[in-house]
Amino acid sequence: MISEKMKEYVTGSSLIRAMFEDSKKLAEIYGAENVYDFSLGNPCFPPPSVFKTTLVEILGLKDQTAVHGYMSNAGHEGVREAIADSLNRRFDTRFHTRNILMTVGAAGGINVALKTLVNPGEEIVTFSPYFGEYDSYAANVSAKLVAAPCGQPDFQPDPEELRKALTPRTKVVIMNSPNNPTGVVYSEETICAIARVLREKQKEFGTVIYLFSDEPYRELVYGDARVPYVTKYYENTIVGYSYSKSLSLAGERIGYLVIPDEAEDAPHIIAAASVANRILGFVNAPSLMQLAIGACVDVETDVSHYQDNRDLLYEGLVKIGYNCVKPEGAFYLFFQSPLADDLAFAEKAKEFRLVIVPGTAFHCPGYIRLAYCTSEETIRAALPQFKKLWDSVRPELIVSKAAGDA
Ligand code: PLP
Repeated sequence: MISEKMKEYVTGSSLIRAMFEDSKKLAEIYGAENVYDFSLGNPCFPPPSVFKTTLVEILGLKDQTAVHGYMSNAGHEGVREAIADSLNRRFDTRFHTRNILMTVGAAGGINVALKTLVNPGEEIVTFSPYFGEYDSYAANVSAKLVAAPCGQPDFQPDPEELRKALTPRTKVVIMNSPNNPTGVVYSEETICAIARVLREKQKEFGTVIYLFSDEPYRELVYGDARVPYVTKYYENTIVGYSYSKSLSLAGERIGYLVIPDEAEDAPHIIAAASVANRILGFVNAPSLMQLAIGACVDVETDVSHYQDNRDLLYEGLVKIGYNCVKPEGAFYLFFQSPLADDLAFAEKAKEFRLVIVPGTAFHCPGYIRLAYCTSEETIRAALPQFKKLWDSVRPELIVSKAAGDA
């Protein structure tokens, strides 16, 4: 018999994953080339060639025990040093090797940070819409997840909503920019406002509130958008990074945490996070991936293809009539569901072989998320299908508008 807690997890299992499975079923019926899958944020490009050549070099090294064996739970020293140096060069920060802890992707990093910081019954606040897995990560540490809704239509966090959500039990606030699911990049003004509210509430409650900046999409930004380095705005910040998206290594499970010296109780957090990495069963991040990453820390992500996809999809959908949030980063586009019931709309989309994710999966009903980390051809072929889908729900829209007017 499985545990009661797991029963809940299995029943409420990720809508995104369910959509991905639906997509596979549709592909069996219609052929993969006739299904337009916008469900999963799985990069469709190969990792940069330097990653592959580095891997081959590492596999040829004499000391293969150093390559494949255990190391310190925090990761290979040389790799952590290379990451700290790269961050300092790029963001004018002052990190040391000790501030970097290698993790099993961003997901591993968040779980390590929460295990390190959160007591059962404490609260974790995040800005909605948000990556649905945060619910499970909060449950893993028996914490309550509290959502502070972003403002609309720009989907920037709302400082007033944050102020309302914080209590003396709040231990961690999770932010994610560039954002999944909206594609919005939080502005410097927003980050300053978040820092102001957190300082104010720390003082009022006499507590420490950590800000966890979940940044797997940091490198994926378009045009003039910039992603401020959050540790420079709020001292109690811990950063979680991952190479899943920037280097197309989602299946390899490699990332890191930055725990700056400025954070309250940093020496204990650094030591405890290393232990959390071990006792959560990760032990350490994959050794081969760490070593390969160590040689790729300054590799720039080529975002041109994602930017072209963004432009093509955004302009195409707006032309049809969809009300879209213009994404400045990540590879997601968020639009208002033409039907108030986003689950029904996503179901209807399958009739047109479109696989899309309802906003409900991100605690934002009435919206739809598209992952455009696909080929350009997929988007070109999908746009006429989005038009047919739009036309198919138009009669329902007219009826509901008339009912609303009456
Ligand atoms: N955080 C956010 C906001 C994400 O969108 C994802 C993955 O899609 C993750 C964390 C997990 O990333 P990783 O694959 O590096 O564990």
